[in-house]
Amino acid sequence: MTATPPSHFVEVAIPLPVHQTFTYRVPAGMTEAAQSAGTGAGIQRGCRVVVPFGKRMLTGYVVEVMDSIEETGQSAEELKEVEELLEVVPLISEEMIGLTKWVADYYYAPWGEVLKATLPAGINVDTEWIVSATEEGRQTEKPAPAGGAGSQRARPMRGKVLEAILAQGEVRVADLARTFGKGPVSTALRALEEAGLVRMERRRQRPTVQTRRQQAVRLLDRTEEAEAGKPLGESHQRLLETLRVPPAVAGVLPLSEALSLAEVSPSIVRTLEKRGYVEIFSQVVRRDPLAHLAKGERGSGPESPEGPLVLTEAQTEALRAISEAIDGEAYRAFLLHGVTGSGKTEVYLRAMQWALQKGRSALLLVPEISLTPMVARRLRSHFGDLVAILHSSLSEGERLDEWERLRRGEARICIGARSAVFAPLQNLGLIIIDEEHETSYKQDESPRYHGRDSAIMRASRLGAVVVLGSATPSMESFHNAQTGKYGYLSLAERIGSRAMARVETIDMRTVFARHGRQQIFADELKEAIRETAARGEQSIVLLNRRGYSSFLLCRSCGHTSQCRNCAVTLTYHRQQARLVCHYCNHAERVPQVCPDCHGGFLHYVGEGTEQIEAQLRVLYPELRIGRLDRDTTRRRGAFEKILGEFAAGEIDLLVGTQMIAKGHDFPNVTLVGVISVDAGLGMPDFRAAERTFQLVTQVAGRAGRGEKAGRVLLQSYFPDHYALQYGADQDYNRFYQHEIRYREEMRYPPFAILINILIRHEELARAAATASELASRIKAADRERVLRILGPAAAPRARLKGEHRLQILIKTRHRRAAREALDSALTGLKEGGGDPRLITIDMDPISLM
Ligand code: ADP
Ligand code: ZN
Repeated sequence: MTATPPSHFVEVAIPLPVHQTFTYRVPAGMTEAAQSAGTGAGIQRGCRVVVPFGKRMLTGYVVEVMDSIEETGQSAEELKEVEELLEVVPLISEEMIGLTKWVADYYYAPWGEVLKATLPAGINVDTEWIVSATEEGRQTEKPAPAGGAGSQRARPMRGKVLEAILAQGEVRVADLARTFGKGPVSTALRALEEAGLVRMERRRQRPTVQTRRQQAVRLLDRTEEAEAGKPLGESHQRLLETLRVPPAVAGVLPLSEALSLAEVSPSIVRTLEKRGYVEIFSQVVRRDPLAHLAKGERGSGPESPEGPLVLTEAQTEALRAISEAIDGEAYRAFLLHGVTGSGKTEVYLRAMQWALQKGRSALLLVPEISLTPMVARRLRSHFGDLVAILHSSLSEGERLDEWERLRRGEARICIGARSAVFAPLQNLGLIIIDEEHETSYKQDESPRYHGRDSAIMRASRLGAVVVLGSATPSMESFHNAQTGKYGYLSLAERIGSRAMARVETIDMRTVFARHGRQQIFADELKEAIRETAARGEQSIVLLNRRGYSSFLLCRSCGHTSQCRNCAVTLTYHRQQARLVCHYCNHAERVPQVCPDCHGGFLHYVGEGTEQIEAQLRVLYPELRIGRLDRDTTRRRGAFEKILGEFAAGEIDLLVGTQMIAKGHDFPNVTLVGVISVDAGLGMPDFRAAERTFQLVTQVAGRAGRGEKAGRVLLQSYFPDHYALQYGADQDYNRFYQHEIRYREEMRYPPFAILINILIRHEELARAAATASELASRIKAADRERVLRILGPAAAPRARLKGEHRLQILIKTRHRRAAREALDSALTGLKEGGGDPRLITIDMDPISLM
């Protein structure tokens, strides 16, 4: 009967860029309250707490509970107290505490930020400052007229701020700052507070998202008494009848729906409730991200597979290996290497089905958020409501509900993008990572974890099976399959032995020679578009640059418009009539004359999708042309709408960025033209060839998915590059052999690990000093001389968003040694008074940009 002794201290991870956890004292009353709430355990690991942090109150995560802090050398009196315990049943599982700790350590990511990423957005509690007028402040109803005493400048601002406060009674400081500017408001408030005219107060903000509830009515089982009792009126009967038939489920309907279906007034229900026929209760409403789909598309449940598909021999073989591994209940990783259209998705579905039958749950990670609805739809029609969908373009409410369904075990299949690797699935047995080579699995802001690699770690910690699927596996994963670390499963042929698309490279140098000037479209491509349309088939034209022109050039003085924050050229967007920075979104008006020499010979150079679309409209006025890129798909649902029109044949020719190259299945597309594959090859990045090969293969996979053969035309000024040649042949193995030799010679992954360290600051001197100190400390700490330390040097994007950026690159085969050297260098830097906030560490960077 004795409860666990109260834990007096907790270790809390805070979702801020800090690399340690903090100890707080637990007030005695709080522990008892938690115990009496029924868990009997007091405050526990995985609970959220509100704690004071600096001037703020923040939600943090309890990662440890302790009876004493003797070992830590802290004194209890100095510690701050936990302000509030947000739940007594931990929201974060022990599994997640362990996994996030690994992620935090491995990627040098703040643990609190990783923990936050595992939870649905919007459920944290934050505080805000509220300001109201004091009694004295209200007396000065009329602010002193202008010309009164006091400093001339500050006076009007103070008056304005006080007026705003008086007008509203109390105001959020954040709102004032938005109106009057942050700096002026804080100066004014400080003065007003000192003068005793206003009072500042910290108040808790409500979480932005909560479970939604509604009134529902349930039919109670009391037919016998009903017969005996006083007969019911017609309206009463009608309501009861409504609850007996669909759409009522188990005699339950939302109250409002029941009333409108039965066409009765609320008083009828109340009478029925009084007489014991029905009960009214509060029901959790699920916000369903697929609610907009037609009923048929949503599927009716787990017993409705898509139809009797007979697996091919290769599919059967792959499924057998995966199923056996699931039965083995131990960690096992597979690479499922299947050319586009080889039926990988079908294997995923059946493997998930198998896991379910074994009582396990399954997780499917997909790279692009915008692709999720389509795969999700297929999953839904197989597994019905057992599927939960998690991705960041859902509303916060939808995400919370899906997350809760997983946590409660109601949903046992989850599909989602990167962060779904942390989905709270119970008894997880299978993780599938579709398009495992995609770079979007790496988060390019803090916490910088890799979704695929974290998923593999999750599987191995749980004894689960992980399947990496791709038509163009990453060099790392294919290498792991070669060395036997992963099982290798291959689907070498397209379903129905459909031929792969024919890929031809067009040498743009000859096109240039023929015309004597640069052409956007080669004659072959123009002709092919015409022929395709004449056959009633569809084409895709791909270009990896959105906007209208790539930049604005002054022909007199050579001036180009650069982003003043990022030192990259601004892109011309005609529709918005703006020059836009694609890194920081800074936009400016298009100058009429050159800002430098005031000459009038401004010239637009390079093409973006917007211009390609315009040019194609001129060339083919009779065709229906659509465009798919980040500009046309900003609104929710726009992406699906455009693809829907294309699938329905309402668009003949679709122009777009590589967004269109991925995953979609359009049987009537028989031509894909790539305006330029060269941009990718020119990148200062060791993965440039791999990326280009992947792009070509992906694109080739888009053409000829149906009965008809497909054709791909690649325009390039380097048609002899091996990535293009093997890409055109769709020959992954030869590409791999070539590329792996280069990686080995140059000691790039998978033969070495990379750690990219970015040092940035507004002042170049500050950044440079920190960078060189860090580099020499790493060198000093590398006692065994196993690290190659490159730099500090200017980062490829030397200026970005107003900051100067330097980088240090560590190349090594010895991960352990690198981490130890880095740890010791960072500690030394901090102890020497350096500022670690300037430093960003990118473990296993996917791009050195
Ligand atoms: P991948 O994911 O490898 O690109 P998909 O799984 O999308 O390929 O399969 C391509 C097409 O082939 C889909 O339309 C799918 O329904 C169909 N398909 C898959 N497996 C089979 C099969 N065994 N028999 C017939 N059609 C199949
Ligand atoms: Zn910029």
